[in-house]
Amino acid sequence: MRPATRAVHSGRPPHEPDQPLNTPITMAATYVAGGDLEYGRYDNPTWRAFEEALGELEGGRCLSFASGLAAVSTILDLVANGEKVVAPRHAYNGSLGQLADLEARGRITSHLVDIEDTDAVVAACEDASLVWIESPTNPAMELADIPTITKAAHDAGAYVVVDNTFATPVLQQPLEWDVDLVVHSATKFIGGHADLLMGAIVTRDEQLYGVLKGRRDLVGAIPGAFEAWLALRGLRTLPLRMERCQSNAAELVRRLRERPDVTEVRYPGFGGMISIVLPDGGIADLVQHSTRLWVYATSLGGVESTLERRRRWKSEPATIPDGLIRLSVGIEDVEDLWEDLVQALDAGTA
Ligand SMILES: *Cc1c(COP(=O)(O)O)cnc(C)c1O
Repeated sequence: MRPATRAVHSGRPPHEPDQPLNTPITMAATYVAGGDLEYGRYDNPTWRAFEEALGELEGGRCLSFASGLAAVSTILDLVANGEKVVAPRHAYNGSLGQLADLEARGRITSHLVDIEDTDAVVAACEDASLVWIESPTNPAMELADIPTITKAAHDAGAYVVVDNTFATPVLQQPLEWDVDLVVHSATKFIGGHADLLMGAIVTRDEQLYGVLKGRRDLVGAIPGAFEAWLALRGLRTLPLRMERCQSNAAELVRRLRERPDVTEVRYPGFGGMISIVLPDGGIADLVQHSTRLWVYATSLGGVESTLERRRRWKSEPATIPDGLIRLSVGIEDVEDLWEDLVQALDAGTA
């Protein structure tokens, strides 16, 4: 099956009389003993359906988590005391925040790299135990050479993780490049409607799967059944939504590049995320407050277009330009998106 068909058909009850087409929401703290499920922190049929569907799209086994950051922390927890993690200097600020917190507490050391400087990343892999990749990076939109970095990391005996939140399995399947773990904030494109928080990890490594499942059982960073159901419902239209937001984004990029008041347009060539750089933070603030259709809000990946000046967050690295606005392109009509963006840019740069 091709991805668009998998997205629609996987994680469903069998095609048998009286079976519902959709996996029901199982609200259960516990199960009658003697079977596989036992207790609500260990397993849930609605999570299983979501995990089967996302696992099939990424090409591995999936575990769902309470949020993207719950999944991130479960992976970082695997790093032994005193060992080194290589990570992009521009990445989701919560992931960088967890690394900084672990380092401040003397748990690990971290080595931040320019993920586009493949030689520097390869050199940094040498004594690492985990290499964290985000590609495209949030919000700098840099791309990593995932196959080359993965090979260098494996030669050094390190595990490789790719945060695939921006690309989604529709546009990029890192496990195909031998990456060990894929992590997602399912809050974003997978859920797709800005109405849930969830995370996921996907792997082909049975041993890692078992260790991560054990950690989830122990720590309890599990999603609710309703969230898993909503995320699966969102996943059904993921390929369709990615197609639309990508074509909208590509058209907006073409037009934005013709505007002299936009200093820089960063677009990795695929997906629904764009970053634009305006001359300064003041102008960017004016623009983000001047849109009527685009919602000024953090987060991304929903059907509705949103925008945000990233440096409004104190935690955003100082190497991200003050005037950078991240655009999450939704599935609206591109002409409406463009008209609103034009009037907001005109208001900001008048
Ligand atoms: C949002 C995000 C996360 C964190 O996910 P939550 O679901 O908000 O906890 C991790 N990585 C990336 C790239 C994100 O955009």
